[in-house]
Amino acid sequence: MATPPGVSERDFTRALTEFRNAIGADWVFTSDEDINLYRDAYSPFKGEAEDRVPSAAVAPNSTEQVQAIVRIANAHRIPLWTISTGRNLGYGGSAPAYSGSVIVDLKRMNRVIEVNDKTHFAVVEPGVSYFDLYRYIQERGLKVWIDPADPGWGSPVGNALERGGGRTPMRDHWNAVCGLEVVLANGEVLRTGMGAMANSEVWHQYKYGFGPLVDGLFSQSNFGIVTRMGLWLMPSPEAYRDGRVNVAQHDDLVPFMETYAYLMNSDILRGTMLLESPLLNYHVTQGGSFFEMPNGPSTAELDRLARERNLPYWSAEFRFWGPPKIIDAQWEYVKEKFGVIAGSTFADGRRYVLPAEFDQNDPTLEVALGIPSLGVFGLLQGGGHLGFSPIIPMTGDAIFRAQRAFGRLYAELALPAANQFAALPWSYNPRALVLLFGLPMSRDKEQNRQSREVFERLVEVSAQNGWAEYRTHIAFMDKVAEMYTFNDHAMRRFHELLKDAVDPNGILSPGKSGIWPRRLRSNRG
Ligand code: ADP
Repeated sequence: MATPPGVSERDFTRALTEFRNAIGADWVFTSDEDINLYRDAYSPFKGEAEDRVPSAAVAPNSTEQVQAIVRIANAHRIPLWTISTGRNLGYGGSAPAYSGSVIVDLKRMNRVIEVNDKTHFAVVEPGVSYFDLYRYIQERGLKVWIDPADPGWGSPVGNALERGGGRTPMRDHWNAVCGLEVVLANGEVLRTGMGAMANSEVWHQYKYGFGPLVDGLFSQSNFGIVTRMGLWLMPSPEAYRDGRVNVAQHDDLVPFMETYAYLMNSDILRGTMLLESPLLNYHVTQGGSFFEMPNGPSTAELDRLARERNLPYWSAEFRFWGPPKIIDAQWEYVKEKFGVIAGSTFADGRRYVLPAEFDQNDPTLEVALGIPSLGVFGLLQGGGHLGFSPIIPMTGDAIFRAQRAFGRLYAELALPAANQFAALPWSYNPRALVLLFGLPMSRDKEQNRQSREVFERLVEVSAQNGWAEYRTHIAFMDKVAEMYTFNDHAMRRFHELLKDAVDPNGILSPGKSGIWPRRLRSNRG
């Protein structure tokens, strides 16, 4: 039997017996067959000793059962690792950062507690998937939309805690959180915000409560187990439309992004934008690169290619939700503002007054219409990936600098163009952009080794430029935390101070976000 490091077989056996007594023998998993399900399907260490493996898994059905598990783990110093639905693919899936942890799988806690379509919020348990929540709303004809992550099989709780994003105006998932219920490391239950008042009427309508805000302490964290979450929803809009804006040349990106930021921060553009480049897409098919390579074509040459091929250098689709006359006016205004950039062109897209039949061939459209989907997997062209996702400023200049910095790195590492899972920015969050890279993962150890090396260098090059990742894979949490250097890692030291205070036995998700409890701190990579 695999036991957590430093825990004797006798103690572990005792703890497992106590887990069985607390939640039922059917919900404590110890066979290899069961445990293997919790390995990371996209592991960068597949088939290698560093691959993270749990020692067992437990699946509680209620907050009280979670409390019981935490108390037992405390008594026997058993490390736990919490997942909601465990679909965190690209960042570790359901696997723990610390091998030998017992997975606390919250999939059975899948109750939708409430959906309110008058003041627009939902209250869910961690095991509720986007599909579950969507179905609940549809079955009752409630007039609210959810904002699914793509793909939609994960949970609103897990995704919001990881600060993931969607595509509608509610796309910043942590921003939509209002009120948590948390089981602390000592087994006590805490309710945040207005929920701190026993009979509060506004737990899920007002975020702040009274006194210091603590909700953020439970996001990307190992300070507690979230057992319930309030989420703000969007009232079902009357209509949807989209349209495309193209600009012709390389340097047009600077006014393009300035206009974008103005419209976004004025609440005229509200959804997620993915910046695209028809010209660079073509260039890549010709053996070129998405990045600006030191030995590659100059900007002037690429501009010439854009003119010759009649391909816009930059392009983006914008989406609008709301009453028809308002979204039509928004699109007109967006065209007017971007129209100032010489050579800009526009394409009116789809327009639906809802409910309507809609274009089934575009999986991203479904997500933008608040419908969870697995269709986006088709866009990944098979294979696993390791997500690399630094945050950069919302400016054309920052995008250019990123293309140059990563181009230099790819040249230095002599990586083939085909290896470049191109990184153009998304606007999942207000005020900043995120670059999403997917480095290929496979069964081939050599390819994985190379991807890991590229990953580490990407993290370092980003940090040299003042950018850091917003989220990372379990195998690289220490590496990314290391980049947050201000004042001799004051943030990490503060996290550790909190960790030791709230979880003195260090049982909750050791290593999460680079935070190790005192007794395991020597594990920091
Ligand atoms: P999803 O349900 O969206 O697939 P996961 O269950 O994979 O998300 O969770 C992603 C990460 O978020 C986990 O690795 C864990 O660190 C953290 N997490 C998930 N659920 C909880 C929870 N209920 N409480 C605390 N942390 C959680």
